Amino acid sequence: VGVFYRPLEKIAAVIETYPRGIAGFRRYQELLATDPEIADAPDAVEAPALRGDIRFDHVSFEYDRDRPIIRDIDLTVKAGETIAFVGPSGAGKTTLLALLPRFYEPTSGRISIDGLDLPRMQLNSLRRQIGLVSQDVFLFGGTLRENIAYGRLGATDSEIRDAARQAQLDSMIDNLPDGLDTIVGERGVMLSGGQKQRVAIARAFLKNPPILILDEATSALDSQTEREIQSALDRLAVGRTTLIIAHRLGTIRNADRIVVMQEGRIAEVGTHQDLIARGGIYAGLAA
Ligand code: ATP
Repeated sequence: VGVFYRPLEKIAAVIETYPRGIAGFRRYQELLATDPEIADAPDAVEAPALRGDIRFDHVSFEYDRDRPIIRDIDLTVKAGETIAFVGPSGAGKTTLLALLPRFYEPTSGRISIDGLDLPRMQLNSLRRQIGLVSQDVFLFGGTLRENIAYGRLGATDSEIRDAARQAQLDSMIDNLPDGLDTIVGERGVMLSGGQKQRVAIARAFLKNPPILILDEATSALDSQTEREIQSALDRLAVGRTTLIIAHRLGTIRNADRIVVMQEGRIAEVGTHQDLIARGGIYAGLAA
């Protein structure tokens, strides 16, 4: 442990939350509309630099009364592990992971990181340590530099360039009229789906969180782009606790464990090999 135990002062400005970063989740409009207004408890403390040992302790959740979406999830994730969540649409994968940055509170059960219950930590200090890379990247009308720097306000030019390089944005930047200062978005250069995802990856490199949530893209990218993005994501995951909402099985074979969800419950857990050998749901999907 301790590889990514960075001194607190090196971790982002306090302001960095998910202003619209809820954009990470597909239904963020909805989330914003129903803003759950989760407030810090009076005795909540600033989270220490987290290692990323996560525990879901018999967690259940429902959006609407008597319609359970997450049912009694009990799962321990060790710091640095990569866990992939698979299962049919509606199984609750996104909802489960939305509980971690506390977009919602469990209806029962508890979630802790490094032994600290989530509500014990000030929300900002928790969210600052969780990176989110999703298919719905929120880009605002501004420069590419500003859009990357959104990962960590106050980042230096060389940190921004380094993050761009790690996300393999550098060749694109070289081809833009004003490089990093090119205006992107509606009033500027429109980025492709793959380029937007790289901006999200660059933000995450810049944020350098111990915990990462990856919402895998469902939209098709050409296979070359897909390989490049996958390799950037693989590098991003190194040394972090990484939770992947997987839509394709091909990309998650190397996960430390695969959690198969069905109707809000964990139906199977194991490595790719374990689950294939078991001959259950995952084996059926992978066949
Ligand atoms: P997918 O692979 O399609 O993303 P998923 O496994 O991530 O599916 P969720 O998106 O977590 O599943 O959805 C689980 C269930 O919760 C679905 O029945 C969905 O309709 C419901 N649900 C999701 N968001 C809300 C909400 N804001 N209010 C009410 N119900 C919701």
